[in-house]
Amino acid sequence: MKFNTALLHDKNVDDRFGSTLPPIYQVSAFSHQSPEALEKVFNNKAPGYAYSRIGNPTVSEFEGRMSGLEGGIGAVACSSGMAAVTMSLLNILASGDEVIASAGLFGGTIDLFGDLRPFGICTRFVKRACVEEIEPLITQHTKAVFVELIGNPALDIADIESVSALLHKYHIPLIVDSTTATPYLIQPLKHGADIVVHSTSKYVNGSGNSISGIIIDGGSFQWNPDRYPGFEEYRKYGKFAYLSKLRNGIWRNVGACVSPNNAFMNIIGLETLGLRMERLCYNALELAKFFDETNGIEVNYPALETSPYYSISQKLLGGRGGAIVTIRAGSKERAFSLINHLQIPLIATNIGDVRTLVIHPASTIYAHGTQEQKINAGVFDDTIRISVGIEDIEDLKEDFAQAINHIREVI
Ligand SMILES: *Cc1c(COP(=O)(O)O)cnc(C)c1O
Repeated sequence: MKFNTALLHDKNVDDRFGSTLPPIYQVSAFSHQSPEALEKVFNNKAPGYAYSRIGNPTVSEFEGRMSGLEGGIGAVACSSGMAAVTMSLLNILASGDEVIASAGLFGGTIDLFGDLRPFGICTRFVKRACVEEIEPLITQHTKAVFVELIGNPALDIADIESVSALLHKYHIPLIVDSTTATPYLIQPLKHGADIVVHSTSKYVNGSGNSISGIIIDGGSFQWNPDRYPGFEEYRKYGKFAYLSKLRNGIWRNVGACVSPNNAFMNIIGLETLGLRMERLCYNALELAKFFDETNGIEVNYPALETSPYYSISQKLLGGRGGAIVTIRAGSKERAFSLINHLQIPLIATNIGDVRTLVIHPASTIYAHGTQEQKINAGVFDDTIRISVGIEDIEDLKEDFAQAINHIREVI
């Protein structure tokens, strides 16, 4: 099946009444006929559910669909994208370990690497996620490399094919946050990534109605217990070692589960992911071209021929650039004035909504970033991030054109 057909038909709704969508199992616990039966479920000796922090059928349905779309061997859904990022790393790291990450990451993820320092986990950043910059930073302590496929908000594209080939020579896994790309644009596991994470709050959900995340495992990385001592007791699970350790360990014990209702919201969102992404990428490219032709506005969009990431967006993303565009207005005053004159976009800190959203990153999501972190993320005083929506492109262009006309007088 091709992408859009699979979104609708490649699933197994297990329901006695023929419901077209999976039921929402909005329960905390599942009762069993005997203590023997519950003992088996609890100890992974029989399929079934015991408690929704550990497993829930609606959540399983969501996990199965995401894993299928990404070409993984399984998935674990989380309470948020940040929970997914955190759990994906803590499942393999220990005190004394090092991570290499790209500097243009989502602000929350940059902050998280700071939070991990007191636990003895140190992160080194590269400006560009490429072989030349990553290889010199590898040490015997490097246990993971973390990149975003399309950096939010830097909009840099990680060359995951060459980076993963390099890392596998050193037995280091590549973890890819593919939130902004979505499985519609690329399935990173098929290009060498070992683990994929998403903030499913964004494009998967699609309407901005709930927070959630997910971790998907490709199942091909060898978690050698000499380098990853925590994997000793999970050896028996073979290629499912990473997922088994996650499910039976830190994910369940931290309590990072997603609610069944939010999993259901994402299942509905997923069904239109292909349609939405097609329209979003079209609108984003049209808008980017419009900005490119507009005096006084500097635009950053990976699928524009002027972008340094143009050729890699052609190679990895089939020439599509995702749905985020950033522009520079010339000064903070002009950026604020431009935003104030927009009629259609909402001023909100989110991406992946069907509505166009705008934000001034330097004063909000990057307000606590250092000057260096801001520059690496492509966040300047005059930067506006636009999460393009599915509105009619003529309306969006007209709205930005009139707002830009208003700032012509602002110095
Ligand atoms: C939003 C986002 C996150 C964090 O996700 P939440 O669901 O807000 O916790 C992580 N990575 C990227 C790329 C994001 O855009």
